[in-house]
Amino acid sequence: MSSVAPTPTRSRDGTAASLLNDEERARIRAKSAQFAPPTAAMPDGRRDLVGLSREELTDIMVEIGEKPFRTKQLWHWIYHQGATDFSRMSSIARPLQEKLAERFVVGRPGVVTEQTSQDSTRKFLFRFRDGQEAETVYIPDRQEDRGAVCISSQVGCTLSCTFCHTGTQALVRNLGAAEIVGQFMAARDSYGEWPSPKGDTPRLLSTIVLMGMGEPLYNYDNVAKAMRIIMDGEGIGLSRRRITLSTSGVVPMMDQCGAELGINLAVSLHAVRDDLRDEIVPLNRKYPIKEIIAACRRYPAASNARRITFEYIMLRGINDSEADARELVRLISGIPAKVNLIPFNPWPGSSYRPSTREQLEKFANIVMDAGFASPIRMPRGRDILAACGQLRTESQRLRRVARPDDGTDAAQ
Ligand code: SF4
Repeated sequence: MSSVAPTPTRSRDGTAASLLNDEERARIRAKSAQFAPPTAAMPDGRRDLVGLSREELTDIMVEIGEKPFRTKQLWHWIYHQGATDFSRMSSIARPLQEKLAERFVVGRPGVVTEQTSQDSTRKFLFRFRDGQEAETVYIPDRQEDRGAVCISSQVGCTLSCTFCHTGTQALVRNLGAAEIVGQFMAARDSYGEWPSPKGDTPRLLSTIVLMGMGEPLYNYDNVAKAMRIIMDGEGIGLSRRRITLSTSGVVPMMDQCGAELGINLAVSLHAVRDDLRDEIVPLNRKYPIKEIIAACRRYPAASNARRITFEYIMLRGINDSEADARELVRLISGIPAKVNLIPFNPWPGSSYRPSTREQLEKFANIVMDAGFASPIRMPRGRDILAACGQLRTESQRLRRVARPDDGTDAAQ
């Protein structure tokens, strides 16, 4: 690890307000657009209906001479029933089924591999239409029949967090809404969880965590569109309370996410001092700790019932001292929060070591004594490289994109 503190790209005492403007968000979006996913058309010209908003679906129905109410029917079959074959859509007359099949598909990403860990964690490697790949992980609850689906938002990542295997893979491109929703739908195919459970009916794939490959707030528009589809009550119908987006701290988009989606927020904090965080989460040079914490304090969906999660990877001798724990408590004081302590999961080529059990417990006790839940996350799926920070695919960028030294600005 470098011992030279990098030059901040923003003044540390700059007010959060200076960042919170439309110009900053427009800049992030414009950069994000450079990594846009390919169009939803198949080689034979048919279009994928998955990933379209209701409005877009209605426009398409009108374009082919159908009534707008077809949207409601199709939505039900695609997202409630999980149908991928128009001939199964029994409330739609045969001639229209055939017409739809000539023009459209109800797609899924291709499953390249599906590995199940000794602890029942299941990792999927999905391939998309242009051959790019991303990983998705289902993490079952140990006690109950439910679990979290960890979804990827990008192929690769720009952010180069030094403890993360995904960060060693350059950003290839953003995933489209269809590819994000498609990961969840394909995981449910694997467990046969269709039709979508309604109301209080228990769900096996009960929560979504946007914590897979990529920084979701650097692909906000596609992520937001996908989450709106997943939350739609006439389809998959997953509550916003059951969706958590994890960010490394893209401050201007945190505000937007809270205001527009109201889903739960997790922040990959991992360090309590800017000099260290600059090094292990290089995005910190752009959005330092003070600004991230301020954005958490104003996050609209946070409450005692819906706490902000601070993710903290425990690296031996780096960020795991008792002084670090006390500073963490001071930083998050007054925020409805919990702290997930994540033992580091080694991957090939990484130089970090996991904290000792004793140190983990000392750290956890200080945080807990201050009134914050601080569970130590047992690594899941380690035998199949499915644990936190271990996801990586062989997808490569086809075109070369300049990447500055600080690793924070290649796409954004
Ligand atoms: S921790 Fe997340 S944001 Fe950082 S490199 Fe890994 S995938 Fe990217």
